[in-house]
Amino acid sequence: MLSIQNIAKSFDTLQVLEDVSFDVKDGEFVAIVGPSGSGKSTLFQLIGGVSAVDQGSILLNGEDIQRKRGTIGYMPQQPCLLPWRTILENVTLVEELQHQPNAERAIEWLEKVGLGSFIHAYPNELSGGMQQRVSFIRAMVSDKPILCLDEPFSALDEFTRLEMQAWLLSIWEAYRKSILFVTHSIEEALFLADRILVLSKRPATVKKEIIVPFERPRKEEIRHSAAFTA
Ligand code: ADP
Ligand code: MG
Repeated sequence: MLSIQNIAKSFDTLQVLEDVSFDVKDGEFVAIVGPSGSGKSTLFQLIGGVSAVDQGSILLNGEDIQRKRGTIGYMPQQPCLLPWRTILENVTLVEELQHQPNAERAIEWLEKVGLGSFIHAYPNELSGGMQQRVSFIRAMVSDKPILCLDEPFSALDEFTRLEMQAWLLSIWEAYRKSILFVTHSIEEALFLADRILVLSKRPATVKKEIIVPFERPRKEEIRHSAAFTA
């Protein structure tokens, strides 16, 4: 279980996060929404381990996340692909660093999101939405128990978004991962999440928690019709 405890973060004199606390249970799907600039991406950078907290702690099964590197699959808001590496090489980067590249699965998953013919292309040959899907697959493919996705589908057209949402739900159901994602779409949060955390304006704190009232069968129904449409 992931436990965020009283974290605070400032950039110079700008306090972005103030006393943010919440837990994410194993296998839970949690959405984070809040005004633009409230600090959602900053929060995810802390959980993703690419930036350090000023105060408070982030614990994964009781252990500080800083000492458990590599346990979180993090997809930043900007795709951040390395321009000199091919799409496939970008996706296997994290695994290469951990000395366990699995090109086969990377190719299989890139094919699933419609990028099979681009594996040897370079990032600048892809549209923004395609780059976002590459970044998404990079976070997914290393098979971490927790995924932090920062506005994963914001650059996609409506059809591709529905397809990706349905696919994410099916992966979540099959592998029982904990998923934490930021979205500016309340509709998307209601569709995907078990629970929605609403951040206040900066300095952000958790203003409200909403338990999504849908039962799984209802979501299943929406998911199937979404997949069918796409
Ligand atoms: P959100 O994702 O909710 O839109 P962000 O976390 O990206 O918000 O940003 C929150 C605030 O922190 C913004 O005012 C932004 O300008 C500021 N900020 C984010 N990153 C940095 C940084 N590295 N240095 C200085 N200010 C930053
Ligand atoms: Mg953001």
